[in-house]
Amino acid sequence: MPEDWRGELARRLPRARFDEPLAKYTTFKIGGPADAFVEVEDAAQAQTAVRTAAEAGRPIFVLGWGSNLLVRDRGVRGLVVKLGGEFERVDFPGGEVVRAGAAARVPQLVVACAERGLSGLEPIVGVPGTVGGALAMNAGTRDGEIGPLTREIEALDLSEGDVRVLRGADLKFAYREGPLRGRLALRATLLLKPGSKGDIMAAVAAYQQKRLRTQPIHTFNVGSTFKNPPGAFAARLIEQAGLKGACVGGARVCAIHANFIENFAGAKASDVLALVDLIQERVRAAFGVGLELEMRVVGE
Ligand SMILES: Cc1cc2nc3c(=O)[nH]c(=O)nc-3n(C[C@H](O)[C@H](O)[C@H](O)COP(=O)(O)OP(=O)(O)OC[C@H]3O[C@@H](n4cnc5c(N)ncnc54)[C@H](O)[C@@H]3O)c2cc1C
Repeated sequence: MPEDWRGELARRLPRARFDEPLAKYTTFKIGGPADAFVEVEDAAQAQTAVRTAAEAGRPIFVLGWGSNLLVRDRGVRGLVVKLGGEFERVDFPGGEVVRAGAAARVPQLVVACAERGLSGLEPIVGVPGTVGGALAMNAGTRDGEIGPLTREIEALDLSEGDVRVLRGADLKFAYREGPLRGRLALRATLLLKPGSKGDIMAAVAAYQQKRLRTQPIHTFNVGSTFKNPPGAFAARLIEQAGLKGACVGGARVCAIHANFIENFAGAKASDVLALVDLIQERVRAAFGVGLELEMRVVGE
């Protein structure tokens, strides 16, 4: 492998960009640059990107919609891969089956399924990310997660660049954790249930309305900061610890939903992380509960 892996990447994939600021690819609008960044349109390009970085021994990070990510201020070393092109497609091959590219957006997928009278995904209509991100996070709410609906995932191995289909026992989902560590999901097959289009659309609308009432929709945030500890709600603990509205630099605990942190004034990742520390300390001191991060933190 050449010393100059970035030059090699540029030669193989002319769309690759270097020292690309990542803030614009995250819903937090925070984060430093990636050494190399490439958006790939098909499986061959994805494989080329992964193999070029892997052969050079560089780390690889897969970026979805950036709606669950805090990218640190000095950015991400190695390669950041984002899917586009054919991975944005959603197909309905028949029956209750849907095949979704990993770059398809979850809200659009849910609505497309509802329009065809396919039920199951309604609770996650307000999850703003991609299908790949939803599978990686086992995105969901108290009313349902994507994991139990997933039958197959076609994924690239990040160390070798080989494509494998995960099914059955390979599909291990847990609370906000999917089977994709060390992998890049390309597309997934989901199995939904038949239902009445009108009922499903009404459920989708009700979930959307509930979110508008209970979550900050128009601010820069990444959804829930912390996982709910067993038998408790992170938002309630943070609120009861008196932290609603607490700020560090440009980062603030949201007044509508205390488990959300907002970037309200040019926050740095270091502001968000200092606020995370403050919340963890205060909640531990008040209730003896250790809050674990749900958002993923990457970079240095
Ligand atoms: C307003 C708001 C509301 C939210 N509500 C919810 C909610 O109700 N429930 C919930 O679960 N989440 C919620 N979230 C969080 C977030 O939207 C989900 O975690 C979402 O699934 C992340 O998808 P993404 O594409 O943005 O992934 P990213 O944030 O880009 O990445 C998240 C993780 O997924 C990995 N990943 C992304 N794509 C792939 C891929 N193709 N292959 C392998 N790994 C991949 C990344 O490497 C990273 O580890 C909310 C966020 C916001 C901003």
